[in-house]
Amino acid sequence: TALDATLRSAFDAYKRLVDEAEPLLTALDERSGDGDFGANLQGGLSLAASHAEGDSGSDAWAALAKVFLDDVGGTSGPLFGLLFRQLARAAAMGATLPAVLADGTAAGLAAIQRVGEAQLGDRTLVDALAPAVEVLRTGGTLATAVTAAVDGAIATRELVARRGRASYVGERAVGSPDPGAVGIALMFTAFGRSAG
Ligand code: ADP
Ligand code: MG
Ligand code: MG
Repeated sequence: TALDATLRSAFDAYKRLVDEAEPLLTALDERSGDGDFGANLQGGLSLAASHAEGDSGSDAWAALAKVFLDDVGGTSGPLFGLLFRQLARAAAMGATLPAVLADGTAAGLAAIQRVGEAQLGDRTLVDALAPAVEVLRTGGTLATAVTAAVDGAIATRELVARRGRASYVGERAVGSPDPGAVGIALMFTAFGRSAG
């Protein structure tokens, strides 16, 4: 189906974007954490891509979820895994891309906050994800959701972390965006490019 082709192309686009951004993501996590975020996200996407060769779009997102939940380290591994699992679930049932994204990202955010307890403004991936979820929940376009995620990630530059390893470095990370939030913005960018 057209939806499945779009989901597959978004998966492939996300992997390509993260391959390119890996040095940046590593540098950002060196400023605010322990420097492994780029390797965590890029390594997980690469492993999932090798498992999901030739898979349909919804199967590729399910493979991504499994790899992040089972094999990817760091705090971000399981948290991204929860988001990907909800996207894969929505993709397996979904009728349209807006429905898959609205349902999957809202359920993913809820799962991430249940486990990680981060609120908006804590300088985490929630600061990119929550604004995009809100756009989709209120019927906004995918393009608007992409902008909300990117703006949310950029705005983490000004924030002092209250969650995760970055909370140990305090003011030192101010001026650079949160790596996890950038990783989320790249996922929305991939969907935006693939929706055509
Ligand atoms: P670690 O600190 O274990 O090395 P990673 O480098 O894999 O973790 O991931 C760091 C990212 O995880 C941060 O940039 C932030 O976006 C995200 N993060 C950390 N703690 C939380 C949390 N409690 N809730 C949501 N996201 C979090
Ligand atoms: Mg890290
Ligand atoms: Mg780590």
